[in-house]
Amino acid sequence: MAERADRLVEAVHAAQLDAVLVTEATNVRYVTGFTGSSGMALVGEEGLRRFVTDFRYLTQSAEQLAPSWERQIDQEPLEHLAEGLPDGTFRLGFDDAAMSVKAHARLAELAPAGVELVAAAGMVEALRLVKDEAELERIRAAQRLADAALEDVVGRGLAGRTERAVALDLEVTMRRLGAEGVSFPPIVAAGAHGALPHAVPRDVVIDEGALCVIDWGAQLDGYASDCTRTFATSDDLDSRHREVYAVVLRAQRAALAAVAPGPLGREVDAVAREIIDAAGHAEHFGHGLGHGVGMEVHEGPRLSRKGEVALAPGHVVTVEPGVYVPGAVGVRIEDLVVVTAGGHEVLTGLTKELLTAPRFAA
Ligand code: ZN
Ligand code: ZN
Repeated sequence: MAERADRLVEAVHAAQLDAVLVTEATNVRYVTGFTGSSGMALVGEEGLRRFVTDFRYLTQSAEQLAPSWERQIDQEPLEHLAEGLPDGTFRLGFDDAAMSVKAHARLAELAPAGVELVAAAGMVEALRLVKDEAELERIRAAQRLADAALEDVVGRGLAGRTERAVALDLEVTMRRLGAEGVSFPPIVAAGAHGALPHAVPRDVVIDEGALCVIDWGAQLDGYASDCTRTFATSDDLDSRHREVYAVVLRAQRAALAAVAPGPLGREVDAVAREIIDAAGHAEHFGHGLGHGVGMEVHEGPRLSRKGEVALAPGHVVTVEPGVYVPGAVGVRIEDLVVVTAGGHEVLTGLTKELLTAPRFAA
């Protein structure tokens, strides 16, 4: 944890700032270990490590923060912090992607005259790209839990119950297995509804003879998992739908094989896109290939046409091509992967062969 603040200071220095104010809750947790909802950290050179929270977190912050942090409790943390800034010239980075306009105005109003507020969003996020071994262990555990929950839920059957009932079963099962929560509301989308990449589960009974897309993730110990599998709901599946599944699986495997240190996000995206385009589905794959996963289910780096970050050891990304034929069918297959020095390690433990889920028996 102390090492994270030290690395942040290097970034502060490189950006020619004197300090950075970390206000977004996930970033605060990453830098300080504090898991509460209200707290901010001021990090700068010469050992500046100040943390301000309110009275509700007096005990919790004392337990969670290392003694190297100067802890301050005030009913108005931002006001307290602003008034405690040094006099004289001081370049202070703030998170222009997360701080409200109102909070920014208040900070500018209360800070000593020499303080210059400098937009500095993304500084902590850049550190979060590369996961250390303890973080990887948490992501692995979250994915293992999510895998187990899905096997449980699909084992109870898909056809014969509603999309919403399956989604709810997944949420409850993940919680029962120890998850803090879901990393996002599960997607369960059968038949033509599967052609909506971010479909919301409906109160509609899942039919036999369909494909059913399930995209779900668990939040465990502050870290997220993310995975998608597409199931057949009975064996009498339209051969055209089997064909679509085969194309997506081929694209997924090829792109996964390209995950290693070196290539840019867009280069890995192109591997899957070429295969899907060649199969005649160019306009049916409208989203990026994947995204980073960590404390948040969607973070950097991006594997998409705009992915300009080169993959490096410690990056955790999804590989999730899909084909969505409006009004007909949708297929997506998503694995969670960590980039390693020698290539990659797949964290998802579930098969990608097209499986037929049993029928639900009430
Ligand atoms: Zn997903
Ligand atoms: Zn995803």
